Amino acid sequence: MATDITRRSLIQAAGAGTLAAPFILNGTPALAASQTEATMTLSPVETRSFKLGAFRIAVIRDGMRASGAPNETFGTNQPAETVGALLAANFLPADNFVNSFSPTLVDTGSDVVLFDTGLGEGGREAGMGRLAEGLKALGYGPEQISVVVLTHMHGDHIGGLTEAGAPAFPNARYVTGRTEYDFWVSPDRVGTGAEQGHKGVLAKVKPLAEKITFIEDGGEVVPGVTGINAFGHSPGHMIFRIESDGKPLILTADTANHYVLSLQRPDWEVRFDMDKAAAAATRKKVFDMVATDRIAFVGYHMPFPAVGFAEKAAEGYRFVPLSYQFDL
Ligand SMILES: [Zn+2]
Repeated sequence: MATDITRRSLIQAAGAGTLAAPFILNGTPALAASQTEATMTLSPVETRSFKLGAFRIAVIRDGMRASGAPNETFGTNQPAETVGALLAANFLPADNFVNSFSPTLVDTGSDVVLFDTGLGEGGREAGMGRLAEGLKALGYGPEQISVVVLTHMHGDHIGGLTEAGAPAFPNARYVTGRTEYDFWVSPDRVGTGAEQGHKGVLAKVKPLAEKITFIEDGGEVVPGVTGINAFGHSPGHMIFRIESDGKPLILTADTANHYVLSLQRPDWEVRFDMDKAAAAATRKKVFDMVATDRIAFVGYHMPFPAVGFAEKAAEGYRFVPLSYQFDL
C-alpha cells in the first residue's frame, strides 16, 4: 500500500470518490459557482433504520436538491458575504447549498406511522419523490402504513399523499394540526402569497378530511408519539416527541432547515419561514431543549440520514450527526 500521501493524491482520491459516489449532479462532476440549481439523483434509494426502545425508526431519502445563492434562502436579512463566510468556515461551498428531504417512518409494533410524504410524483422528473421506493427497500408496502402524520402542509411534505390521483397509502388514517389545516383550507388565502399552497392543500389534503384526526398541542398520535406546537415556519407547524422504553427522539420537522445556517444562527431569517420572528423564537426554544436534554432529533431537511444531536455553542448550536448511538 502506498504510504506516501501527497496533497495531489488526496485530491485524486477525492475525485475518484466523487465518481463512485451514489449520486450524480445532472452529469456534471461538481457544482459550478454559477450554477443556480442542480438536481441530485441517488441510485439506489438511501434509507437508514435503527431501534428506539421497542420502536423501529427508518429515515428515507425522498430526494435532494442543490441550489445556488444560499443567502436568498437562509440569512435573507444578512449580507451574502456573511452567509458565504459562515458556510466556508464550516467546510461548505459559499455559493451553493444542498437541501435533503427525509420522511421518517416509526414502526411501533402495532402501528406503522409515516411522518410527511415527500415531493411525490411532482418531484420525479427531478429525481425526487422516492419515498415509495425507499419504503419498499425497507420492506413496507404502501398498504402497510396505518397512520400518516403531516407536520405541516408545504408542498415537499404533502406531495406524496396521492399517486395518480388516488391516496398513496390506501389503509392509512391521518393526523395533523388543526391550526395548520384551518389556515390552508381557508378561502382567505386566495389572492395572497399562500394561494398556491392553499390550492395544493385543496388538491392533496382536503379530499382526505374524513380520515384526518386533528390535534392540538400535546395531542397523541399513537401511544409514545405526541405532537408539540412549533409555529412559525408555517402557521400550525408541529413537531413530535417519540418515546419507547424511556428512549426519546424529537422529530423537529422544519424547525431548522440547514444544519449550519439555521442551527448556528437561529435568528437569521429564512425565506420559507412564513412568520420569521415566530420561527426564530421556536427554533431557539426547541433546540435549547434538544441541546439541554441531549436528545437525538430527526430534522426533515438535515443532511441524510437527518438524525443527530445539537450542542450549545457561543452563538446558536452545533449539529452533531448520528453515528452508532442507536446501534449498540
Ligand atoms: Zn420542508
